[in-house]
Amino acid sequence: MQHPDTNGQAMSEIRLHDTMTGKKQVFTPGNPERVTLYVCGPTVYSYAHIGNARPAVVFDTLFRFLKRRFGDDHVIYARNITDVDDKIIEAAAQSGKPISAITEHFTRIYRDDMGALGVQAPTIEPLCTEHIEPMVAMIEDLIAKGHAYEAEGHVLFSVKSHDGYGALSKRDMDDMIAGARVEVAPYKKHAADFVLWKPAKDDEPGWDSPWGKGRPGWHIECSAMAEAHLGQTIDIHGGGQDLVFPHHENEIAQSMCSHGGAPMARYWMHNGFLSMDSEKMSKSLGNVKLVHELVKTWPGEALRYALLTGHYRAPLDWTDALIDQTMKSLDRLYGVLRRIRAEPAHTVPDAVDAALADDLNTPKALAVLFELAGQANRAATNEDREAAAADLLAAGRALGLLELDPDAWFGVADLTAEEREAIDALVEARADARRSKDFAAADTLRGELTARGVSVQDGPEGSTWRKG
Ligand code: AMP
Ligand code: ZN
Repeated sequence: MQHPDTNGQAMSEIRLHDTMTGKKQVFTPGNPERVTLYVCGPTVYSYAHIGNARPAVVFDTLFRFLKRRFGDDHVIYARNITDVDDKIIEAAAQSGKPISAITEHFTRIYRDDMGALGVQAPTIEPLCTEHIEPMVAMIEDLIAKGHAYEAEGHVLFSVKSHDGYGALSKRDMDDMIAGARVEVAPYKKHAADFVLWKPAKDDEPGWDSPWGKGRPGWHIECSAMAEAHLGQTIDIHGGGQDLVFPHHENEIAQSMCSHGGAPMARYWMHNGFLSMDSEKMSKSLGNVKLVHELVKTWPGEALRYALLTGHYRAPLDWTDALIDQTMKSLDRLYGVLRRIRAEPAHTVPDAVDAALADDLNTPKALAVLFELAGQANRAATNEDREAAAADLLAAGRALGLLELDPDAWFGVADLTAEEREAIDALVEARADARRSKDFAAADTLRGELTARGVSVQDGPEGSTWRKG
């Protein structure tokens, strides 16, 4: 179905897969003037791996899309920083550094790494340590309403007090009891009850509370921060699939019970795992590629592109072949943009918009980039060539791609015009030699290019070259 926007342009209806209902649903925000998105952010105790970057890139792509649809000022995206956690305390103890030194260091690195991947800063990046008060207030409220209880300095959420517990993850209580850790803390009334507040040991960070010095549990952090910044019911709540249970299930229980049954989110979106050799990439398994390391070898844009080659809900295997193929793809697209200079078109091509509106189908949107590149190459007139290149640029930017000057992509931005012309001439001469099947001459010319530090890539749209 299509409906016109304020400029009269036809736009596809937005449909998003919602984990709660298990179906693609038409997306209608509660208030189109204030569309709200909350995504669980990193725990800042070490480097992010490329699997951690997947939700950041996926929801950044969604954020960009929603801003185009509803207006830049009408979309509010909150992605928290978890800066209090057992793992952080452990990392601080091991390194002998204060906790704040660890969290500030890795927060900075996280922002730099995501920036390299073209991830825009969210509207709000709340820190847990700056929201202890609303967390304590929510816990007090849950106790007052009979959904939580204090036991041995802990406060626990009583899962039995919430009828809908398990609705998101489709688990029933028996499964959860079976799945609970073998060793259930003696102070729990029910094996599946979870911690809202826990006591701090003397050498651990803690805040004063009605239950003594302690710190919040992980789940209450997001419920309190989402409410503080986005209100009781948010439009979209997102994160990786591993967060469905228990994290999001628990967020829902806390928020609904505190908010008189109001749903926590209208739509729940979860990205699939990034794997290596078919195993989930994770710090505990040790099979990780750190973004911080990858960006030393590959352009951040290539890492982003590689992540977008898979549909966000599907698993994606991180391989050398994936990144090699990605570099070839970007070389082709930038090659076209180097030959045909254009400014981005004002509107994003319909086909890209429609692909993204259909549950953020980025593989389909990327395929459109190649159709546009092909159109630009085949066009008979300069005007048509430039129009197609302008569309290609607008389409790329909608995905957070093709934002570099093509010369910068190929590493030739620092060359003088004479040097560039000389290399162009050699590349052209080599292409002529190949066309006339004079392979000896073509090889000699390639040798000359190599001597100048230039490598040539031959593709269906002709040859492109890069320095280094
Ligand atoms: P963490 O710092 O472990 O809490 O993870 C931050 C985000 O990355 C969460 O949304 C996780 O669901 C997500 N995540 C972790 N590992 C992967 C993976 N291998 N593939 C995709 N997403 C992941
Ligand atoms: Zn969360």
